[in-house]
Order: sequence, then C-alpha cells, then structure tokens
Amino acid sequence: MTRALAMVLVLAVPSAALAWEPIAGSRPVWSGPAPYQLNQAGSADLGVSVTEAEVRRGMDDWTTPACSGLSTSYGGMTSRQPGTYEGESVIGWIESGWRHSSSAIGVTGTRYTSSRIIEADMEMNGVHFQWTTDPGSGNRVNAYSIALHEGGHYIGLGHSSTQSAAMYYAYSGGLSRLGSDDEAGVCTLYPGGGGAPADCSVTGCPAGQRCVGGACVADDTPPPPPPPPGGGVCAPCSAHSGCGGAEDYCLSYPDGNGYCGRACASDGDCAGDRCQTLSNGARQCVRYSGSTPSCAAGGPSPGGCTTDSQCAAGERCDRGACVPGGGGSVPLGGACAAHGECASGTCFSGVCTQTCDWPAGGCPTGFYCDGLATGACGAGVCLAGSPGPRAVGEHCSDNADCENHYCFLGRCEVPCNPEQVGACPGGGACQVGALACRGACGPAGSLGDPCDANAACASGMCAASGDDRFCTQLCDPSSPCPEGYGCTSAGAVNVCVPNGGALGGDCARNEDCATGICAFEEDRAYCTRICDPASPCPSHMQCVASGTPGLEVCQPRPGEDPRGGQGRRRVEGCSAAAGPGGAPLPLGGLLFGCAVAALRRRARLSPLR
Ligand SMILES: [Zn+2]
Repeated sequence: MTRALAMVLVLAVPSAALAWEPIAGSRPVWSGPAPYQLNQAGSADLGVSVTEAEVRRGMDDWTTPACSGLSTSYGGMTSRQPGTYEGESVIGWIESGWRHSSSAIGVTGTRYTSSRIIEADMEMNGVHFQWTTDPGSGNRVNAYSIALHEGGHYIGLGHSSTQSAAMYYAYSGGLSRLGSDDEAGVCTLYPGGGGAPADCSVTGCPAGQRCVGGACVADDTPPPPPPPPGGGVCAPCSAHSGCGGAEDYCLSYPDGNGYCGRACASDGDCAGDRCQTLSNGARQCVRYSGSTPSCAAGGPSPGGCTTDSQCAAGERCDRGACVPGGGGSVPLGGACAAHGECASGTCFSGVCTQTCDWPAGGCPTGFYCDGLATGACGAGVCLAGSPGPRAVGEHCSDNADCENHYCFLGRCEVPCNPEQVGACPGGGACQVGALACRGACGPAGSLGDPCDANAACASGMCAASGDDRFCTQLCDPSSPCPEGYGCTSAGAVNVCVPNGGALGGDCARNEDCATGICAFEEDRAYCTRICDPASPCPSHMQCVASGTPGLEVCQPRPGEDPRGGQGRRRVEGCSAAAGPGGAPLPLGGLLFGCAVAALRRRARLSPLR
C-alpha cells in the first residue's frame, strides 16, 4: 500500500491568525497567467461592453497587490458557455435555467490537481439578480464586486471570515474592494511580485512549508515533534511523517485540521476510538464525537466557535471566537440591505442570517442549515423553512420539499461530506454532488461499478482506465480477481481490472462486459449485472425486472447517463497528465495516479456569497 493512494488529504493547517482560506488544503494555483474568456452575450442588464469592462476589472484587480506575482490573460469573447468544464475557462451570464441555488449570485468552479488549477468557469446568476454598476442593494448587485469575489475563487481563494474582505461569503450590496486579508491570500498563493517581499508571519506559507522568523522554510526542518507516547491519535499534524509509525497517517478531520491516526486491525486496538477503513484500504484509529469524526473532545474549546450558531444571539463567529454581531435590530430571516442592520451582523442575499455547521445544523427553530446556498465549502447558512412533506428517497425539486431539507439531484437524500472520514456512518458511500464537500449517502459501489471518486466504492478504490472509471479491489496470487477480471499492475499494487466493459458501459454482446451481461433495450445497449437487496445497484441505476423471471438487473435511471453522469460531474480522463498530444495513458503504472488525481480535480464550485 503506498501512501500516495490516501484519499484523506493531508492539510496544510492554516495559521489561526489568518482569515483567508485556499480552495483546498493543497493550495492549487494557476501555473502561468490565469486565462479567462468572456461569453459574447455578456449580461443582459449591462450590455456587452460594460460587462467586459467590469469583468476585466474584477479579474485583473487581483494582479495589483505589489507583493503578488499573479498575472491574468484575457482571451476575449467566446461563444462557449461557462459551467461545462470542457477544458476552456469561461466567464458568462446565465439568463435562464439557473441550475444552482437561487440565492447564489455567482458560481465559480475550478478543476485542479493537488497543486495546479487547470480550468475555472464562472457562472453569473442573471435569473434571480439584476446587475448594475451602481452600488447594489437587495437583488441589485454590483457587477464589479461580484466579479472581484468570484475572481478570488477563480485564482484559488476560498471564503474569508473577515467581513471587510472581498472574499467574505455574504454580499449585502455596495462596492467591494480588495482588503488586506485578500492581499495576504493572493500574495501567499502567488508570491514573487516586484514589491516588498511578503512576510510569512502575515501571509502564511505554501503547503509543505512553515514560517520561521518571517521566512518560509521546508516543513521538515526542524523535524516535527514526535507524537505523544502511547500513540498519537488526534495529535495535530500536517504530514504523515509527523505521526510516528510508518503506517500512521495524518488525517484530514471535518474541522479542517490535520490529526494523526494510528494503524489498527480492529476497534480493540484503538482504546475507545474507532478502527476505520480509509479509502485506500488502510485502517486507522479515528476519534468520533457522536457520528462525526472529531478530535475536539466535546466540541469547540470554551469561548471558541466554528460557526455563528455556536455563539449567543447577537454574536457571530470570527476566526474561531464569538464577537459582537452587527448591533442591528433585524432578526434572523428578516430583510436587510447591509450587514449592520442585522442582529446577527450578517446580511446574505437580502436576508439576515448566520452560519451553521453543515450537515449537523444548529439553526434556531423555524430555520434549517442550507449547505449549498453560499455555493462554497465550509459553513452553511441558516435559512427560514420548516420540514417538507417528502421522506428520504422520494423525489423533490427543492430543499423545501424534503423533511430533512436536503434535495440532492432530484431526490431527498441523507446529507454527507465526501471529504470526511466515515461520512456515512450507517454504511454506504458518500456520493459527490455539485460541491466536492457536499454529497449524499448512497449504496457503495461493488467491484466494476462506475464511480467518480474513491469514496463511491465499497473498497475505497476508484480506478481509471481510458474513459472508464470503475470500482476495483486489490489482488495478488493468493487473492485472485473474480471471473471477468484480470489482476493488473497499478504501480505499487495490483488491482482487478475488467476484461470487458464496466457496468453501464457500451456493449454489443455479453463478452464485451466485465459483468458478462449486455442488456439490450430499444435504443441502447449497456453492460449490466444482477442485483438484489444484498447487492443494490449504484445510485444512478435502478434494479428492474429482466426478461428472465426472478432475475433483476441494474438499469440506468431515466434521464441519467448510464455511466453515471447527471449532475455528478464526470471527471475527465487523464489527458491533463498525459503529455503532448493527450495520448491515453498506459493502463499499468499510472492507473492509480489517474484515479487519485481525478478525485482532487473534481470541479469544486464556489459561488458567491
Ligand atoms: Zn464565494
């Protein structure tokens, strides 16, 4: 087992003094000038030329801090649409059929490997918002301010907890500008400007480095302190090497920090913690608080917080501490035009709100925690609403339809965070949604089932071969693969690879399918397999009666891509890593490299505010 397979990402733990955050712990950035094109239609409210001027200002202002080496490259107008993730980075206004939360003003998705952003698309909500060059208010939004905020996501910044920052998640109208916190973020991600060198005691250091006397040095000098004697479970860490034993991993916990695990075979090895199988097959002791992995032992430290909901009424959470809110009089859910009007101090899309812990919740009665409204990972926001009529598993078109307020790809589902260890304690896999950190618990994929992430497989291993992504498992001479699969080298390990097409793949005859069954319908043929309650179909397929009495097989659900498209953005092949010409990668050796890269490259959508 190589450590490179670990799905649980090692985080570069940000300094508590910083408010800005990267879009991912590995801090992916553009390797050259950040490219962008503008859809030729512009904004219907602004007209093309004004749109172009405001977008260019919002994007290019990120290059102005003297301490930053960031540059951008404007490629002009295009007929392409944003949000398709076809390899071109496009900004555009959506004037009908907005597919994200109606309270999201803009949505910026970035595709990235662990260190490099390879594509970004910015969708602006022309359906629910009116765009203007005036200071905005309510549903009238200032185009430059939104472009600036979305531009921050575009270059690799997440949300900031500082209200004066352009990257603060909530917009309550007015004109935004880059604040010192934004500058610290861009100068850390893109150092090397001609200006005064940024002091890392202010800006922080890139992943794998730490700040010593104002200079970034490699994180392994001096060597990290040894874990506490008797095992380092929950010892803070930023790298596997900080966790002692060769088989002890640094795990990413839901609070965003890294804590050590410890190799185990069963719960008995973990002194009260759980022995959990990671997505790479390794087993580690993981500490839980209730059903959530947590090293906090009882939640945040006294006086500390991670969301507003943990603070008293009239307070909000800023950088881990409860501080006075806005001092306003408008209660939660009331209309607002500025943060200061709200008792909570936060005006979000024209409504007073506060942040909450998604999916755990924590909102007052009459409110629920919406994890998708801000369009970014991190905290949710409390929105007004009472439980809807539909139970988990029933169809829905809006969160309000569901009794648990979670409508996921047209069905009420159990919410989960695919990036968390043990995201679905009841079993099953956490299927990724529009955001990498927002998903729904579904059946875990069996060998050969299509997958888009390691977490979608019961084995914890999603492999890539050409266009196919399928759940695999380890194999060796003593544990060979089932019929229809061959044991193939994938770097340091051997895994089972279908001899034929994967479940849902095209076929013309049974021999084309790893499963040995090619299903024919009027207008299509696809590889299928037998299903029953013990081996349910993957969530994009349904178990239906076949022509053979008593035999049920997996069939793509109506309107869904047989290989698992439909909302679950299909991760593209390995062309980004394939070198000149984009030739397909050889199966051996790079198989897992592709799967892991694909996992990290999945589009993460970070809308505005
Ligand atoms: Zn945002």
